[in-house]
This record gives sequence, structure tokens and C-alpha cells, in this order.
Amino acid sequence: MTQFITRIPNGFDLPRRIARLGELAYNLWWTWNPEATRLFARIDYDLWERLSHNPILLLRQIGRAELNSAAQNEDYLTAFDRVFAEFDAYLAAQQTWSLAAHPELTGNPIAYFSMEFGLHETLPIYSGGLGVLAGDHLKEASDLGLPLVGIGFMYAQGYFSQHISEDGWQEAINNPINIDEHAFLPVTRQDGSRLTVSVEFPERIVTLQIWEVRVGRVPLYLLDSNVDGNSDADRLLTARLYWSDLNFRVAQEVLLGVGGVRALRELDYNPSVWHMNEGHAAFLTLERARELVQAGHSFEQAIAQTRLNNIFTTHTPVPAGNDEFPLWLIDKHLAALWTPLNLTRDQFMDLARHTQPYGETFSMGILALRLAEGRNAVSELHGRVARGMWNFLWPDKQEDDVPITYVTNGVHTGNWMARRIRLLLDKHLGADWLDRLDDPALWSRLDAVPDQEFWQTHLHLKRKLAFYLRERIRGHWLHDGIHPVQVVASGVMINPYDLTIGFARRFATYKRAGLILADVERLLDLVNRPNRPVQIIFAGKAHPADEPGKQLIQQIYRTVKKAETGGRLVFLEDYDMNLARYLVQGVDVWLNTPRRPMEASGTSGMKAALNGALNFSVLDGWWREAYNGQNGWSIGADADPQTAVQDEADAESLYQTLENEIIPLYYDQDEAGLPHEWIARAKNAMQTVTPQFSTRRMVKEYVQRLYLPALRAGRETTKPKKARKK
Ligand SMILES: *Cc1c(COP(=O)(O)O)cnc(C)c1O
Repeated sequence: MTQFITRIPNGFDLPRRIARLGELAYNLWWTWNPEATRLFARIDYDLWERLSHNPILLLRQIGRAELNSAAQNEDYLTAFDRVFAEFDAYLAAQQTWSLAAHPELTGNPIAYFSMEFGLHETLPIYSGGLGVLAGDHLKEASDLGLPLVGIGFMYAQGYFSQHISEDGWQEAINNPINIDEHAFLPVTRQDGSRLTVSVEFPERIVTLQIWEVRVGRVPLYLLDSNVDGNSDADRLLTARLYWSDLNFRVAQEVLLGVGGVRALRELDYNPSVWHMNEGHAAFLTLERARELVQAGHSFEQAIAQTRLNNIFTTHTPVPAGNDEFPLWLIDKHLAALWTPLNLTRDQFMDLARHTQPYGETFSMGILALRLAEGRNAVSELHGRVARGMWNFLWPDKQEDDVPITYVTNGVHTGNWMARRIRLLLDKHLGADWLDRLDDPALWSRLDAVPDQEFWQTHLHLKRKLAFYLRERIRGHWLHDGIHPVQVVASGVMINPYDLTIGFARRFATYKRAGLILADVERLLDLVNRPNRPVQIIFAGKAHPADEPGKQLIQQIYRTVKKAETGGRLVFLEDYDMNLARYLVQGVDVWLNTPRRPMEASGTSGMKAALNGALNFSVLDGWWREAYNGQNGWSIGADADPQTAVQDEADAESLYQTLENEIIPLYYDQDEAGLPHEWIARAKNAMQTVTPQFSTRRMVKEYVQRLYLPALRAGRETTKPKKARKK
């Protein structure tokens, strides 16, 4: 027991027989276990949908009659008891992969730092792929029994919701959240007062309070500067994701790195490995060094020791994607940090100095690469790009020998696979298939699933998507007074039996969302052919400060609104984890058109494949490793450099494959409406992608290739005395 606690508020008035629902609402385990999710949903489906799947609000608002009827329903109670038996066994964690395979990990956990965590659509502490990856990492660590603790931020103003105006312009709507309506638990001392840590800046100190989110067996701690005593400006530091103002940004990153280490110490953790998910957290390396300098070591000794068990994962294949700050900003915000490290200002700057054509900057990427012994990119190709990009830090090495390895990303299967597909696999692969997920031998059994059954499951999910879109639009029509053309542009005409292509992602220009619209005439001709209609669903947000991204959305929206599209091209507002789930589970084809090699990995295509969709993508990031000629389609060649020529060639390749291969294959159906060849490919996609591009494979690889070596190397690291309370 530590001397700090988080307690679930007992604010619910529930019948005693089902009172434990209140406990379940505060552990996100329910989000990746569909039977647990259904315990909430089936009490009142309408309310569940209206509340956007928020179990805490549901339990507060639901009527007594519904609760009583659930508490007296045999069926419900059977499901309830089964779920809680599983939940209790899970939390007891008697037999886990981690305990069995790597008992040396037990004890001191891995600390995982990330600017964002995508855990569920109701927790607005993520913006996109980086966050969803971090969320999936925590869920998998929990499933594997890996001792891991997350550190991130409480963004009380959340991430923006996207509204598209009639003319296609993205409007950002901020929705501050009520913290107590979510599964955020205040971390307090025994006497009930809030546990805090502080971080010194020049001329002021910023205090942070801490919240806990329970992710199965893994705790995630969120730092929050919105506390009494901080200035108004400082109270906003952790309010929002990715401030464009660099003053906020750099201060935020100091809080993550320095504040995060201090929070873990206050919480009595002594992590054995320190993992930085992207460079935002790189200041943690300095705080760890400071601990040893304060204990009497020289800075060099401190660095030499702490770097052994620091790990840095880079996600950006372009130099500009890494956070870099002008030196005057570092002076302004970090001047309080170099003296405790026994460094001069210049020595401090030298740690991460990056000479750019426009001046010198302090590079978070360089800081992390220098001060972490474990370094990885997130796909094979990205590894190569990263080694080239950072070769200058190891001038005596050949590019191939630059010490940056790669661990290709994965997705959490339970989190992203439709319940119906899980049931299908339970039946045909055996009830324990999820435990043996990354065993390739298991997946050959999928061949034996009858095509009829496979396709029925898929069509069910497509109907569910079409129905969901209509419900969304009905809501907009009734409450927001949108124009009829926008109703059509939002997917009201989507037919669940027609070939449906999904394209959903952040609207960064390198993702080339407009590529499929390169020749609108040609595309409209393709999608409108009699008996072979094609539907394309777009969704995605642009960063509010990204004008080209917003213009791209507008360009697409204007095309979508044209009468000639017949409602077959669609743009959906407000892409988030909920919409992502419907899309990856309900489309036939998942399209991705990044400009090589800018997509470090990408993960949405993995989510689509494990639900039986076929990827149609540029051979970049993960797809370059997954594509085998049978499990989807490629766009363009493997080797082209990134030029305008690539855009043209890729567009041509895209249209040709769509016209000559994808559309004919989908509509090649027998009298029963079964496209056997298509189904064979879909099964192949599930077989090849699900085990390999899972977080199961990914987290195990992190353990074996990065965490264990770091743990062993760092074992000798001096523990700072101050932090040990027991
Ligand atoms: C999975 C996911 C992403 C990341 O997808 P990419 O393929 O990397 O673009 C982004 N946003 C949401 C909501 C997701 O679920």
C-alpha cells in the first residue's frame, strides 16, 4: 500500500444487486470488453447513445424503473455475474503473460509518458493516431499483466469538435468537460487533501494536481495545472492539447517531463524503464539526471546512468514534425533547470542544440535521442528514414548503423474488433482465440468459416454503419437546422449493399486526402456506373491552425456536395474514436494515400483489416510490411521518391486498380449474392494482419527488444533517496 489513495465516489443510487456497475464505470476495462459494455447499454439503449457511451452519466440519469427491471431480469443478471466474475479474475492477475514469461519485470514498473492517450471517445485527452496508439499500448500492457504506469495530461477543455459549415469550412468548437462526469479519480492523501507536485520556472512555481484513470490493471496519471495558487495563465497550461503558442507548448512539455517524474516519485513509484512516446516528454531525461546530481553525482555520471533505461519512440519521418524551440524560449522557461544540473546555460543548450538555416533551436528529438539508450521508429521503412534523418548525431557511423531500431505499431484487438466478428471467431477459432491472438497457426482455421456466414456478419456491420449515419443526420436535422444538401453530403443515401470505401484521418496535407479527387470527372464516372455503384466516405479533422488542411476539407466537401455524386460521396463531421469504430467495422475498403515515406506507420488500416475490410494503400508505413498481394491492394510503386510525379502516378494507379480490380471483384457475386473471391481476400487480410499488427505482438516486442535490455542495464542505477518513502 502506498500512502496515497484514489477512491471511487459513491455517487450512484443503484439497486444493491447491480451496485457494482458503479465500480465498472470507473475502470476502462469495460471499453474493450463488449459484454461489459453491453451491461450499460442494454439498461437503456437510447440514453446510452444520447450520452455518447458515458457510463457515469448513464448511471446518474437512468430511471429507477429501468434499473429495477434490470436488477430483476434473469438474463441480465446472468450476464452481469459472468462479466463480474471475469472482471474480478482479471484484476486478481494470477496468471499473466508477464508473470509467466518475464517474472523479473514484477516489482518496478515501466513508466510510459505521452502527451495524449486515446482510451475512449468520452475522454477528450487525445487528438489522433499518437494518442490512440498510447491508449492501445496501455490496454495491451494491462492484458499482458505488464507492470506499467502511464503519465499524461488532464485536458479539461478537451480537444475540439468539428463542425462543417455549409460551404465546407471547418469550425472548431471547444467543449470543456466536467471532470466529475468522467472516469477521472482525484489522487489524494490519506487526509483527503489533494496530492500535488510542483515545477519551478524562472520567477514562479507551477503546482500540479493528479488524476488517475484505471485502464484495467494499469493506472494512468494525468497532470493538471488548474489549481488554486497558480496564475490564470498557468492554470490553462494543461487545459488543451497542442497549444499553437510556443510559450504554452514549451511550458507544457516541462510539466510533462519534469512534473511527470516528480508525480511518480510522490506516488512512490520507482520505475525500472522510462518510455517517452514521442519527443514531447524528453525533459524527463533531465529531471532524472537532476535527481542523481542532487544525490552527489556529476552530470556526466548522472546522464551515463539514467540513459541506460530511457527509451524514446519517434513517430515523425520529417524533421519539421519534431518539436523544436528557439533558444530564447528555452531561456524564458527553463532557466531554472540548468543550475540544479550543475550546467551552464551553454552546456545546457548544447544537449539539444540544432543548427537550422533560420537559427539555432533546442530540439526535443535530439535531446531524447542523446539521452535515451533505447530508440525506435514505428515501422521498418520509418526506421530507415529515421536513421538517415538523424545520422548527423552519429557522424562516425554509416546510416545503417545508426542506433535506431524499429517496432512496427499495432492496434488493440479487443478495442477495435466488432463484437459480431468476435463472436464469429469464438465459434470457429475456439473460445480462447483472443489469448492466443499472435499465434499464426490459429488463423488458418478461418479458412473453414463458411462464406455465407462470413458475409452475413460483414453485411450486418455495414447495415449498422448506414443506420448509424442516418441517426446522426436525423439529430443534426432536428437540432442544428442544417441545409438539405448537407443532409445528403452526410451519408443519408448510403446503401449498405454497395461497395463502400472509407477514408478517415487527420487532414495533414501529406496524407493527400484529395488524391482520389485528382480527376473528379473520372471518379464520378466510376462511382455512378449502373449496377456497380461505389460509395466513398471521408472523415477527419485538420488542426485548427492548419489552413491548408482546412482548405483541403473544403475542397472535398464542395465536391461531395455536387448533385452528380448522387449522395455516394460523403463527408462525416467530427471524426473521433466512436466514428472510427463504425467506419473500420463497416466499410469494404480502407483507403490510405500518404506521400511516401511520410506515414511513419498508420494504424487505422489495421483496425479495418481485423474486421474483414481490404486495405487499398500506398506502400508506406505498416502497409508496406503487411501487403502480400492477396490481402488488399497497393497504390503506386514501392520505390518512388516523393515528388509531384509521385502524385500523378499514384492517382493513375489508384483509378486503374479501382476500375479494373476492386469494383469488378466486389460485384462478382453468385446467385446468393456472395462475392467468393472477395471473401477469400478478406479472410486473408484478417489472417495476416490481426496477429502481426496487434498491440499483442507490439508490446511483447517492446518488452523483449527494449524494456528488458533497459531494465537489465539500468538495474545498477542509483535510486534517488528522497523519493523512497518506505
Ligand atoms: C486509429 C485512429 C487514428 C490513426 O489512424 P491513422 O491510420 O494513423 O491515420 C486517428 N484518429 C482516430 C480517431 C483513430 O481511431
